[in-house]
Amino acid sequence: MSKKKFGIYGGQYIPEMLIGVVNELETAYDHFKNNKKFNDELKHLLSEYAGRPSRLYYAKNVTEKLDGAKVYLKREDLNHTGSHKINNALGQVLLAKKMGKTRVIAETGAGQHGVATATVAALLNMKCEIFMGQKDIERQSLNVFKMQLLGAKISSVETDTKTLKDAVSQTMGECSSRIDDTFYVLGSSVGPYPYPHIVRDFQSIISKEIKEQLFEKESKLPSVVIACVGGGSNAIGAFYNFINDKEVKLIGCEAAGKGVDTLETAAAVTKGKVGIFHGMKSYFCQTDNGQIASVYSISAGLDYPGIGPEHAYLHDTKRVEYIPVTDKEAVEAFEFLSKIEGIIPAIESAHAMYYAMQLAPKMSKDEIIVVCISGRGDKDAAMITEYKKELSL
Ligand SMILES: *Cc1c(COP(=O)(O)O)cnc(C)c1O
Repeated sequence: MSKKKFGIYGGQYIPEMLIGVVNELETAYDHFKNNKKFNDELKHLLSEYAGRPSRLYYAKNVTEKLDGAKVYLKREDLNHTGSHKINNALGQVLLAKKMGKTRVIAETGAGQHGVATATVAALLNMKCEIFMGQKDIERQSLNVFKMQLLGAKISSVETDTKTLKDAVSQTMGECSSRIDDTFYVLGSSVGPYPYPHIVRDFQSIISKEIKEQLFEKESKLPSVVIACVGGGSNAIGAFYNFINDKEVKLIGCEAAGKGVDTLETAAAVTKGKVGIFHGMKSYFCQTDNGQIASVYSISAGLDYPGIGPEHAYLHDTKRVEYIPVTDKEAVEAFEFLSKIEGIIPAIESAHAMYYAMQLAPKMSKDEIIVVCISGRGDKDAAMITEYKKELSL
């Protein structure tokens, strides 16, 4: 398999003006990923600043209620800034600093990656500009306020659907025009090589910790690990160190939106076809003419038309199973976990929780499910109130 690909997926399908950017990044990352000083500094930031290791919590009430497998929650929601995004932001912004860059740029959808990037930029004294679709700016005013407070400049993206995919496209264009001082902090395991590898490496601390923590508590491997999949960074992070443990079942939950039989869905594996977009070959929701389709999910973090190339490969090789979960099902799990366990998950993470609720009762009591709670749900509370109001109309 080519170093730059996962089977036939991934690669560098980019315009010429971006070649310099990815080549410089590849050289720098190859150097720093095994550099002791870099890794020591990152480790220090992850623990002292972000609060790692995140807890692996035994959800006793959930387990009793579902009356089957033991359910553990990997609490990425407890990290500084409230999601797994900080793991990758710390890694990439530190890398940028080591490369001598003075300015970072990033795309954001719901604003979680934008906030994480602006946070680390503030900490490491870097200039920061965040590109965000105009529609998302309107929907996520609290995160816009936070990013500005942290010193970032927000640029509104006005093209096409004015959401995440357009913000990614614009940020890619921007980074090729200011390569001398600027670094693009990409927020998910997508884009041209080496981004999917870099993001996966920085997020793989999630599965490394799950393995160690579960071994300490239960002296065994989990039977199943479940994570939600947008671009796929928290999922690949939660899966990575289990890929060679064939007895561990790995399940990614993608956003079905209003259902995979409607056009209002973001289920890139279930509904998508192989295509090329944002510099990579992978699965994408497309129109019959091969254009990237407009997608929909109640969860802004999963509202992306594709999936990272490593997931496309893990799907084809059947190592990971991808399951669509609808808005309605995710909202049900959001309320269940809040009421039963007193943990309000991000609506993204609730997609994974929903599938755990289906699976646990069918499993035996000596089996273990680990669910990655990728983020906390405060950001979603108002929107879900609205969603429920609309349904009862
Ligand atoms: C961004 C985000 C996601 C989706 O991104 P992935 O790269 O697929 O992990 C999921 N959960 C939360 C809380 C997020 O902020």
